[in-house]
Amino acid sequence: MAIALSQFNEVRLDRVSRDFGALNALREINLTIQRGEFIALLGPSGCGKSTTLNCIAGLLPVTGGAIWLDKSRVDTLKPEERGFGMVFQNYALFPHLNVRQNIGFGLKMRGTPKAEMERKIDEALNLVRLQGQGHKLPGQLSGGQQQRVAIARAIVIEPPLVLMDEPLSNLDAKLRLEMRAEIRRIHNELGATTIYVTHDQDEALSLADRIVVLRDGLVRQVGTPKELYEAPEHLDVADFMGFRNKLKGKLVASSNGRAIVDVEGARISGRTRETIPDGSTAYVAIRPDDLVIGEPGGNALAVSVDTAEYRGREFVGTAHTKGGLELVFRSFQAVEPGTAVHLVAGEDNTLVFSEPV
Ligand code: ATP
Repeated sequence: MAIALSQFNEVRLDRVSRDFGALNALREINLTIQRGEFIALLGPSGCGKSTTLNCIAGLLPVTGGAIWLDKSRVDTLKPEERGFGMVFQNYALFPHLNVRQNIGFGLKMRGTPKAEMERKIDEALNLVRLQGQGHKLPGQLSGGQQQRVAIARAIVIEPPLVLMDEPLSNLDAKLRLEMRAEIRRIHNELGATTIYVTHDQDEALSLADRIVVLRDGLVRQVGTPKELYEAPEHLDVADFMGFRNKLKGKLVASSNGRAIVDVEGARISGRTRETIPDGSTAYVAIRPDDLVIGEPGGNALAVSVDTAEYRGREFVGTAHTKGGLELVFRSFQAVEPGTAVHLVAGEDNTLVFSEPV
């Protein structure tokens, strides 16, 4: 591949804060990203994902801390001096410039000689698989093609870092899946270092080498997709990783990383990383996939079924307990609303936490 990204070893955010008046949008974020990593910033709306990205890009000044590219401090530099590639949700293409001109814009600004510029534009067009489309205006392209142009424009300047802010959210579901694979392919082919903002955990899990979960301007957990999926450290991270059932109860007993919680008189057992005192409030987290219709007894909750939606291979149901807890479960058979059943939680995949979301 002839596009050669500038080399460095790591990007480091050192206690990066950003205030908007009295609002602390980012609170002392520490994060080190190695060259070649694909990092996803994941979290609910307003948690500070875009603010983090904009601080790294230089579109927003930090109000505390520093950002380093190896031993160079970059948060004091203008965006164009940092030279990072940016891809936005709304593509931000120039409507009156054709695809080649859009891609070449940054090179032109940098005074790149014409022949070199044309060669680099060709390479970028090849990389995003838009050969033969160079003469078209953005308005003549599909959403997915426009996003490819935006990606080509970001990488053609050979940036040390590629920053992407929810680049797929304007695309329909099918195209989103296709472009997701494309983004990872381009990252791999280029040997790029990418920071990618998303609120979609599937996107983060499938794309990233490591995921950074943010909440209220704080880093809640950093880990590989597998680490986050299997061992979320907080109930809010578990919630983001698909543990839709979050049940409040009282801790009955715990030992060796196992805890038993009383939820409306039912004993639910699961894994915990914490030491939670007996008798104190505890929260049980269960994925719908791990809550299935079964026999009364251990790990079973008595419920009344509310809905059962057909999803092809299985049904996704909702139900409630006598005490009013709402549950989401999985079923391989149709089940009528109003049916009384027991939902059994898979012990190994049930987690117990001491703090609420
Ligand atoms: P979303 O997924 O909705 O884009 P986000 O995680 O990217 O959310 P940010 O856009 O980073 O969240 O916003 C973090 C917090 O900072 C929010 O509370 C937001 O309202 C606030 N905020 C962001 N930009 C500004 C601004 N220019 N002025 C004032 N407050 C802001």
